[in-house]
Amino acid sequence: MRMIGKNGRKDLANVYLAEIKNGLMVEFVDSCDPLVGGRDKKWVIVVSSQFGCPVGCLMCDAGGNFKGNLDRGQIIGQIKRVFEESPELDPRKCGKLKIQFARMGEPALNDAVIDAIHWLAEEYPGAMPCIATMAPAGRGQWFESLLNASQRFSDIQLQFSMNTTDPEMREQLIPYPKMSWPQVADLGKRFYRPGRRKPSLNFALSPGIPVEADRITDYFDPEYFAIKLTPLNPTATAGENLLECVNSFERAKLLVAEKAKEFSVLGYQVIESIGNMEENEIGSNCGQMVRKYKADMPEYEKAPA
Ligand code: SF4
Repeated sequence: MRMIGKNGRKDLANVYLAEIKNGLMVEFVDSCDPLVGGRDKKWVIVVSSQFGCPVGCLMCDAGGNFKGNLDRGQIIGQIKRVFEESPELDPRKCGKLKIQFARMGEPALNDAVIDAIHWLAEEYPGAMPCIATMAPAGRGQWFESLLNASQRFSDIQLQFSMNTTDPEMREQLIPYPKMSWPQVADLGKRFYRPGRRKPSLNFALSPGIPVEADRITDYFDPEYFAIKLTPLNPTATAGENLLECVNSFERAKLLVAEKAKEFSVLGYQVIESIGNMEENEIGSNCGQMVRKYKADMPEYEKAPA
């Protein structure tokens, strides 16, 4: 791995850009939550699982330009690299070590992600893996393997990217074959364990994208599913696709709070995740750093793959 760049602040989030081989780049994140304390209290590492992404979500800078999957060592290498940045800390003693397979790439399209999760269970059994997925069609066996691997951890976060309750709009926003809602509902229920986090349905809210809480109650039982709401992050791709993003913290808070009420009255546990607007400046949204690098150095795209 050849480190190309780093952007951010150690006390919030650093985004790293690295070349894995022959012009193939990944980005990964090393972050903490200033409200909780340092990395010894909570440490969140977000890694890439694919070079680019074949899904091509309309709001994501990582979409398109798909060049293949990372292997187990390449995924693990990002986690190890982040640990090397804080040699004074023992990740095994961290209060909450969260490894998110949610950066560039759809993790459920890469079998090596399962291998990396088993490695995590062996090396850092106190860690919590987090998988954010749009639930691609035809990957039932992958999720069976994930279910099996998840038994090795006391907690795991499984997040399904919904983004809208309008099925047609969802096809446009996430233009890739995906599981039906009943399939996602069956799958999520199987991951549910009392005392663990519920699988969540994630919505990146934008004023122009319909999210109507009562449209999903027939499929997703609040007993098994939580709702996670975030404002839609301002990415270059979202702008090109004319998706309205919310840049001000106050507006984002209001948008999320209003929608949270609608889900709460239906019995859902709602996680309101606004984040720090500064992270948008840092470029910590998925694919932003690779995209910026390629825009600044377009000849890099021509490097042999
Ligand atoms: S949001 Fe995830 S699945 Fe969609 S294009 Fe980006 S990396 Fe791929």
